[in-house]
Amino acid sequence: MKATGKCPKCNSIKITKVERKSSTSHKFYYGRVFAKTERYDIYVCTRCGFTERYAKLSKKFLVWAKDNIIEPIEEDNDFV
Ligand SMILES: [Zn+2]
Repeated sequence: MKATGKCPKCNSIKITKVERKSSTSHKFYYGRVFAKTERYDIYVCTRCGFTERYAKLSKKFLVWAKDNIIEPIEEDNDFV
């Protein structure tokens, strides 16, 4: 929706972007010791109400995320 500007449910192109700085539903917590927050951009289809959330990907978050990328699980196929 963010990339296409189109609702994947009803194909409407009447999408709006919601930004609110104070609401807790517009951010999420990450990190272990100190609660860090990252904000969402929220895209809402004004026709059917379908909603998508995207993290803002701030510099601070990306620095943290770099060390917290999930490694792909390697399947052990060596046992034959
Ligand atoms: Zn829609």
